[in-house]
Amino acid sequence: MDKFLEEKKQSLLLHWKTGRTIMDDRLLAAFEATPREKFILKKDSYNAYGDYPLSIPCKQTISQPTTVMLMLQALEIAEGMNILEVGAGSGYQAALLSKMTGASGLVITIEYFRELADFAESNLKKSECTNVNVIQGDGGLGFEAEAPYDRIIVACACPSVPPPLLEQLKTGGIMVIPTKKRMYEDMQVIKKTAAGVKTESIGGFTFVPLRGKYV
Ligand code: SAH
Repeated sequence: MDKFLEEKKQSLLLHWKTGRTIMDDRLLAAFEATPREKFILKKDSYNAYGDYPLSIPCKQTISQPTTVMLMLQALEIAEGMNILEVGAGSGYQAALLSKMTGASGLVITIEYFRELADFAESNLKKSECTNVNVIQGDGGLGFEAEAPYDRIIVACACPSVPPPLLEQLKTGGIMVIPTKKRMYEDMQVIKKTAAGVKTESIGGFTFVPLRGKYV
């Protein structure tokens, strides 16, 4: 990798470690091993490790690295998990999920726009992620064929939690989902237990909107 990009990447890692923002070592290793520059437009290559969102086709965005890392940390991923992502976009977050769950796990990522589903699929292929299936469709409906899921992560702003997603989450599972408030999105971490659903918030973020049935 380009020396400039490598330095920027290392400085992000140092920032998270020293600030104790990200303390999951497997997640930090997955970030280090994943080439974000392969998931963005060529013209933005030099911004690959800036801590801000970037444009991708269909007027969508790839989230800023810190947002992706905070969401993935809240998911508490272990090897071998069955994970559903709503909003494949560039495929970058799916690539991190793929590393976290490993060869014995599976990642299903759903993308609403065909052009982006193809973009994500080709980026994931270039990065040799073989345990990820990209599906074009409405992720608000989940993906029944591989349900139930250990973890569900939603990468677009939802007015409320789409019911199929909660249904397709295992008991003992965790879902991370940005839900709309007036000025921002509240990042909800939902834990489904035998005794019911527990929700906590990890802060305010901004996302592109969910499309499809549950808007
Ligand atoms: N995880 C992505 C971020 C993508 S931004 C990445 O790492 O690059 C959110 C994505 O959600 C956009 O690509 C948008 O098209 C998609 N999206 C919006 N509504 C959706 C829906 N109902 N089903 C699937 N994807 C949806």
